Amino acid sequence: RYAAGIDIGGTKSAIGIVDQQGTVIAKRTLPTDQSVTPDVMVDRIADALKELIQDTKIDEAELIGIGIGAPGPLNTKKGTIVKPPNLRGWWDFAIVSSFERHFTVPIHFENDATAAALAEKWLGAAKEAENFVYITISTGIGAGIYSHGRLITGSTGNAGDVGHLVIDPAAGACVCGQQGCWEYIASGTAIARQASQLLGRDVSTKEVFDLADDGHVQMKALVDQVFRYIGIGCVTLINTFDPELLVIGGGVSQVGDPLFDCIRDYVSRHALNPTGRNTLIMPAALLQDAGLIGAAALVHIPY
Ligand code: ADP
Ligand code: ZN
Repeated sequence: RYAAGIDIGGTKSAIGIVDQQGTVIAKRTLPTDQSVTPDVMVDRIADALKELIQDTKIDEAELIGIGIGAPGPLNTKKGTIVKPPNLRGWWDFAIVSSFERHFTVPIHFENDATAAALAEKWLGAAKEAENFVYITISTGIGAGIYSHGRLITGSTGNAGDVGHLVIDPAAGACVCGQQGCWEYIASGTAIARQASQLLGRDVSTKEVFDLADDGHVQMKALVDQVFRYIGIGCVTLINTFDPELLVIGGGVSQVGDPLFDCIRDYVSRHALNPTGRNTLIMPAALLQDAGLIGAAALVHIPY
């Protein structure tokens, strides 16, 4: 029994066939071409999936479902993409019915961070946890919430959009219209933007960390401030959900120990209850293919 996992992203989309153990037996990546209609893009993805099915010689009857992970805001009740900032060509697109033109198996559809949380529960850092929050710190910030042994998806699949928790109302305006959202001040994008302003030239997120490591005072101060902002958001999630574990993934988490040490230190001093202060904080275990494994998990794992 196999599931297809489809991870829709702003620049590329990944398509994979995943078995019941979570092994990716075949995959393809396609550029997400926003110059064509999303229906045409779905046609290309469907063709790629049909090719994968043929190449792997699995019986079509063994494909038990398709899981789709996509950036929010979306509407899982209606099966639509709503208005993700990096997927403008897909706003209000009925993605589930578009895939139903090509396939008859059940289609599961959730936001990408929620799907990634389920992947960490299935195969990653949260296998043993009944209550955890998965946080991705990447282009933006998002979360998937797993509580009482189930995913918390919300009424339309948008629960966990923690990138828009207000952390510093004195900071600048976010795309959502609020001031000082978590992702506006602590995402990979935010790090590069703030550093570029300070240095008066374009700086990449990675370069900010390298400069800070080399003792650049301004960049070190920026990195410290960002790590503290990440700590603040983590404390808010711990106080809200009382999880056993936080799992942290996304490009910025690649920084590793310096980030995790700062978060653990901040949480150990500021979570309200003594148990919360000891919340385990672990890096995500699934890096490669996390998106498509998460999408396939929606088919293989009850949530
Ligand atoms: P996406 O947001 O498309 O899912 P990623 O999870 O890779 O992509 O996150 C991209 C962000 O993470 C970018 O801001 C990038 O600069 C940053 N990033 C990627 N790798 C690293 C790294 N090794 N160290 C620090 N930042 C990184
Ligand atoms: Zn916002």
